[in-house]
Amino acid sequence: MTDTSELPAAIGDVYETVVARNAHEPEFQQAVHEVLGSIAPVLEAHPEFVDGGILERVVEPERQIVFRVPWVDDAGRLQVNRGFRVQFSSVLGPYKGGLRFHPSVNLSIIKFLGFEQIFKNALTGQGIGGAKGGSDFDPHGRSDAEVMRFCQSFMGELYRHLGEHTDVPAGDIGVGAREIGYLFGQYRKITNRHESGMFTGKGVQWGGAEVRTEATGYGAVFFAQEMLGVHGDMFDGKRVAVSGSGNVAIYAIDKAHQLGAKAITASDSTGYVIDDAGIDVDLLRQVKEVERARVDEYARRRPSARFVEGRRPWEVAVDVAIPSATQNELDEADAAALIANGVRVVVEGANMPSTPGAVDAFRAAGVLFGPGKAANAGGVATSALEMSQNAARQRWNFEDSERKLRSIMRDVHHSAFAAAERYGHPGDYVVGANSAGFERVAHAMLAQGVI
Ligand code: NDP
Repeated sequence: MTDTSELPAAIGDVYETVVARNAHEPEFQQAVHEVLGSIAPVLEAHPEFVDGGILERVVEPERQIVFRVPWVDDAGRLQVNRGFRVQFSSVLGPYKGGLRFHPSVNLSIIKFLGFEQIFKNALTGQGIGGAKGGSDFDPHGRSDAEVMRFCQSFMGELYRHLGEHTDVPAGDIGVGAREIGYLFGQYRKITNRHESGMFTGKGVQWGGAEVRTEATGYGAVFFAQEMLGVHGDMFDGKRVAVSGSGNVAIYAIDKAHQLGAKAITASDSTGYVIDDAGIDVDLLRQVKEVERARVDEYARRRPSARFVEGRRPWEVAVDVAIPSATQNELDEADAAALIANGVRVVVEGANMPSTPGAVDAFRAAGVLFGPGKAANAGGVATSALEMSQNAARQRWNFEDSERKLRSIMRDVHHSAFAAAERYGHPGDYVVGANSAGFERVAHAMLAQGVI
């Protein structure tokens, strides 16, 4: 990821500094390269962004917090994990971005996610900054009591950096309704404040917003619907491959079915299931969310499904692919297989699931490609709606909330689509999303001075 030959000089210099300063952070370098590699036309149109040192500043987090998380497991043994919060940019609003609990978490992963979040949040137009956090704690196989003790210890340190006007986390991989409850409860106890707006993704009974749970998956499908609409096509009748079987995947499958498509795959880190009758969302939720089992259990209980161990769903012939598990889960060979099988649309439910080689392959083949920064922005946009409802002490119903999400995704699509046209790359949503997001951030940074 150190090749700067294809980048204009001003951008290449900044990128080389990023590589030198963050030498052991390949995911962060990859995310920076992807953004810097597509905004040359913006910098040409706005030389003041170069003169104002926007690039040098935007690649450096405003603040990075790394901390010890000690806790005691059910056997009475001491465990120590590492906690992170990278507060990347508050130029457009309070820091906003999820927490990820997964053994692969390190500073590189959190920084790539925080960097992406800046531009994604800008694209939503909701007045939120960019951040990300988490821990290398693995909730798989842990009891509820262990997860609670871990969350309490994690928040015992992180609380001092949070607040409804300062930094507002949400869930991500490994952080769902259970973890958010424990984290919010501990914050409330330590601070002696019921500050609803300091966390999003809360249960709807205690300050959460309708549609937040569904928003990322639903939003990704709405984004795909917009992309298809540009070409006079629709979701109805499409065959869809989804990876992952967590929050994003489940609701992407759900919305695809509501729109008349058939989603036939789901996966986890052990392999994937293919179900020619269409994935049964209720069964998948039961297996993954209630029983916290692996996806092979789904295939065992569903006669029309089979489990393919150790492989990814990209070998299945589909019209639409929605990678919704994790970063770099779809490589160049996977992209070639999807293209050979006639895929027409790829939308990223996950953050950076496609490798740079895969993205290039999709663009070269004329596949409609919706990058995560735009396609999965529905989750954080609905989090911003949750913050608004908390501030106004209101609760909107499901139908109104979904209508708002639908309209926000239409706007996000329009912003990316229009920016791609404006900067001479019509139909290229990577250029469009990065340019539109970057423009908003850069204008605000220039206006607010050198800080
Ligand atoms: P969940 O924890 O609910 O689900 C994650 C899913 O991805 C699980 O099925 C998990 O399988 C699988 N997975 C995780 N790591 C790997 C891996 N290394 N290899 C293969 N499969 C893996 O997370 P979410 O659904 O919330 O998040 C999924 C993606 O969407 C992430 O990239 C996240 O950053 C992104 N995202 C999420 C948003 C949200 O609102 N939740 C908003 C925007 C983006 P297993 O159980 O085996 O680990």
